[in-house]
Amino acid sequence: MNSRTILILILSVLLGCVFISSAVAQQDGYPRYTPERVERKTEAGDDGKLKWAKYEAEKCRGCSGTGKTKCKACERLFDEAGCPDCKRKEKREIVCRTCIGDGSLPDPLKKVHCPGCSGAAFLLCTVCNGGGKIRVDKAKRLSACPACRGDGAFPCKGCGGKRHVSGAALKPSLATADDTKKIKRALDVTEKMLKELGRFQPKGGDKGRKEAKALAKILKSGAKTHPAFKGLEKQVGKYMGKIFAGKQFVGAAEHESLAMERLKASAEYYLKMQKRMLELTLKRVEANAKIAAENGGK
Ligand SMILES: [Zn+2]
Ligand SMILES: [Zn+2]
Ligand SMILES: [Zn+2]
Ligand SMILES: [Zn+2]
Repeated sequence: MNSRTILILILSVLLGCVFISSAVAQQDGYPRYTPERVERKTEAGDDGKLKWAKYEAEKCRGCSGTGKTKCKACERLFDEAGCPDCKRKEKREIVCRTCIGDGSLPDPLKKVHCPGCSGAAFLLCTVCNGGGKIRVDKAKRLSACPACRGDGAFPCKGCGGKRHVSGAALKPSLATADDTKKIKRALDVTEKMLKELGRFQPKGGDKGRKEAKALAKILKSGAKTHPAFKGLEKQVGKYMGKIFAGKQFVGAAEHESLAMERLKASAEYYLKMQKRMLELTLKRVEANAKIAAENGGK
């Protein structure tokens, strides 16, 4: 091993440390709502049955309702690096991740954070931490990241860049579904995915490729119920293939596990939000069935 290689390895370890300490707890560093506490009120309609009340959400605490927030990716990047989020524009402003730019949490019956990118529109390159560049030669020279080739990220195929998706594919829609069986089936799929994701603890390194396949399999298992997973399930292999291009760096296993952890966290947030909405939907439909029974099936 020559001295230059050693230097690259040391520097990548340093970069890796900064990244991991700031990103593991809260994946992308932005606050999120607690799905279990999200409310969606009902009211009695003219026919006496419960329907969803008009959606009213409080101002987003992440951006005070402006829909914009300060880029956090830049805080951990060196000055010469790029940024896939704010592009290093003067104000370093980005679309608020907490509310996806709406200024308040969007109606979760209709619009949910993308289960792939969590509202970023891209999957981050964890090899360069999004900077697109890796520093070599005693910090004098920068070279393009071998994984993302300088882009710092990869466009998300879960939402196609929209940052949000529409949620469970119930007919006619999640907001108007009234078939108890179908709602329960969607809930089962959602809970099963959450269980499997809970057990999925990626380590990267030697196990990386096997883990990427396992993650794709979990996402595929819910693709019928949650169409956003269709594109994502296919993207996991390609995305991780790029991340594996950073194998020669020390810290590669962490970069790999972090890439999978981020996908896991995004999928979990989406699924928890869906679980909550499906449970509320079931409650509404079951209450209506009771009302109908009391009225003699009218
Ligand atoms: Zn916001
Ligand atoms: Zn930035
Ligand atoms: Zn990169
Ligand atoms: Zn997305």
